[in-house]
Amino acid sequence: MPAARVLIDGPSELVFDYAIPDGLPVVPGCRVRVPLRNKSSNGTVLDVVESRDLGFALRPLESLSDPEPLITPKLLEAGRWIAGYYGCSIESVIRALLPEAVRTEDNSAKVRKFVTLDTDPPPEVLEKIAKRAPKQSTILALLAVAPDRKMALADLGDGASASVKSLVKQGLVRLTEEEVRRDPEADGSEEILPDTPIPLNDEQQAALEAILAASAKSEVPSDNPPSAEGRTPPLITDHRSLITPAKPVLLHGVTGSGKTEVYLQAARHTIDQGKTVLVLVPEISLTPQTVRRFRARFADVQNQVAVLHSNLSQGERFDEWHRIRKGIARIVIGARSAVFAPLPDLGLIIVDEEHENSYKQDQVPRYHGRDVAVLRASLENCTIVLGSATPSLESFQNTLEGKYQLVRLAKRADGQSLPLIRVLDMKLEKQKQKGGMAILSDRLRVALEQRLEKNEQSILFLNRRGFARSLQCPSCGHVCTCPHCALALTYHREDERLMCHICGHQAVVPRKCPECRDPAIALQGYGTQKVEEVLAKVLPKAKIARIDADAMRRKNALRDLLNAFQARKIDILIGTQMIAKGLHFPNVTLVGILNADIGLHVPDFRAGERVFQLLTQVAGRAGRGTLEGEVIVQTFTPHSPSIQFARHHDFDGFAEQELDMRRQFRFPPFTRCAVLTSRSTHERRAEFTLQTLHRRLKEDLPPGLELGEPMPSPLVRSHGQFRFQLMLRGPKARSLTKHVQQVLQKTTLPEDVTVVFDMDALSFT
Ligand code: ADP
Ligand code: ZN
Repeated sequence: MPAARVLIDGPSELVFDYAIPDGLPVVPGCRVRVPLRNKSSNGTVLDVVESRDLGFALRPLESLSDPEPLITPKLLEAGRWIAGYYGCSIESVIRALLPEAVRTEDNSAKVRKFVTLDTDPPPEVLEKIAKRAPKQSTILALLAVAPDRKMALADLGDGASASVKSLVKQGLVRLTEEEVRRDPEADGSEEILPDTPIPLNDEQQAALEAILAASAKSEVPSDNPPSAEGRTPPLITDHRSLITPAKPVLLHGVTGSGKTEVYLQAARHTIDQGKTVLVLVPEISLTPQTVRRFRARFADVQNQVAVLHSNLSQGERFDEWHRIRKGIARIVIGARSAVFAPLPDLGLIIVDEEHENSYKQDQVPRYHGRDVAVLRASLENCTIVLGSATPSLESFQNTLEGKYQLVRLAKRADGQSLPLIRVLDMKLEKQKQKGGMAILSDRLRVALEQRLEKNEQSILFLNRRGFARSLQCPSCGHVCTCPHCALALTYHREDERLMCHICGHQAVVPRKCPECRDPAIALQGYGTQKVEEVLAKVLPKAKIARIDADAMRRKNALRDLLNAFQARKIDILIGTQMIAKGLHFPNVTLVGILNADIGLHVPDFRAGERVFQLLTQVAGRAGRGTLEGEVIVQTFTPHSPSIQFARHHDFDGFAEQELDMRRQFRFPPFTRCAVLTSRSTHERRAEFTLQTLHRRLKEDLPPGLELGEPMPSPLVRSHGQFRFQLMLRGPKARSLTKHVQQVLQKTTLPEDVTVVFDMDALSFT
């Protein structure tokens, strides 16, 4: 007899087998109600198995919650792959596949009651009612003038239901129940004007054709089995092994080259073929223009675009999810977790800004949204486009090896040349300015003044929050640090506080140095607030605004500010990396990068790549209209390759030298790299646990696997916990993960130690 293997909802990850009652169409991915001890619970069917003879009868499951499985078979298959690749439980993956909001029944669709007046009652009836029942009379009068002569029962006022009941009895009105969609855009915050496609230039046309050719290929079965290496999935079922999935397309287009227009037209083709489209972006709130353009282009059919924000209410999320599952919303835009959106007939996946780190989930399951998207495309046999002005070296190397297809947009769509980038050596500037913080070079100040005179806009970029980085005593060198994280606290001027940006710890600013009692404890370094202050002094006439996480806490603050900047109500925008993304402002002709070195000196082999990406993306904000753009980069290390290649807009040059380095030192993309971290409030126990694991990992270490030494994490203390880590590298992800899993399974961890395994880790702090 077949049995259903069911994962019970709730934090404890219980899995039990239940007998399937005759005739109940239970398949993997279904939601069911099952008996659990003396209650009943909700659960998800992971598998349908042939039940073994256990010597007792399995309890039967109670009922099927939805007629169709909520998790499609393809997504369940992707889930299994994720569990094996990232070394996490299938239970944790199911939680990601089926959001909390969808699992909780309380969120199910809202039903509202409506009252309709189909025909006017004869005058003598009205008269009678007016005399006997004034309340009923009022209701009839309201309905007679309502749009469609229909109103929600709730809108008829308190105690209306008895009167309505009576009116229904007399056959005068109709009472209906209707499902009401909770529309996340219902506040009408923004009016979307429909727009039409732009005629593509030759490069864009070629890119579109390459993408469409890839989709045509997705439909042709062939006899070659897909390659089992790298990101393509293992062969799981036989039917699929007859199909060669088309290669993922890497669209490398310089900033402003019109990638979005290519996405839009590819999406249109896909929709016209009756298929659906998934668009992944790094973060919804930072890509308002991309979202707006999709909404505008696909405004022809109402509600066909679903945007999965992180700030949807549970009810909205529930409704959006079901609209997607039912195929009503045919285009889904969302961040990382939207990769699991249950779109039927998926035809195209677009991963915009594919190099962004935010695609990696930093909690279990620690999947990479882009890589899961590639996997999903292959499972669903649909086209996938990864787009970026600065592709990740992982994706770029895949094109060099022929696993991905490279398509390029080398020039800006508007015919403008890429902006001129000047690199200024701040060591010289500091000598010139004699002491002080040398925040603004003369060159940059003059450039800002020129823009003000011409009524053009500027963006200043600084990758650091707060007024000053830390508080350091000039006499004894004491730095105010977080008691939980051992990191320098940041000084915030607005509320005169010191704050830890890791755990949020706050402290008052000391009057005297806590160490030597010197009252001269001074400000070190500078942040966006300090820049704002300096600018206000130097350019008193300029209208200046600041975008960073501190200033943007208020809801909609970011959107309002960006709109004001778009409307040219602001001359100079100061920001952190938040503004390095896909914003598009035609009147910006100057971008200043105040301290390009931040990020170069961190313990991470991707530091150079990050700085290159950041400079290129930020520079791409300049000269996006008809006016020519200029970029000024202030740095203390003007000759670093990341800065020089970015300056020459030379991605290939950068990639070549960086890939050489990675190959030489056996870093990704030439190896797979994972980090194993132990954490505990007891320093010794965290350290000892990791040492034990290290010793066991070393025993029968598979060939080709490199095991690093256990050491304190760069951020030794965080949230009151001590952290130790070791790095593992190997040619194949799966064998690495398997080895670690085996060791973890046979090791009993002390109760107060947590061990975290992060495959394809992007963060090493
Ligand atoms: P990217 O996404 O590559 O940064 P966008 O798609 O935002 O570039 O395009 C940059 C600008 O160029 C936009 O204002 C867009 O409307 C415009 N654009 C795109 N394609 C064309 C084209 N073929 N002709 C003229 N303008 C275009
Ligand atoms: Zn802290």
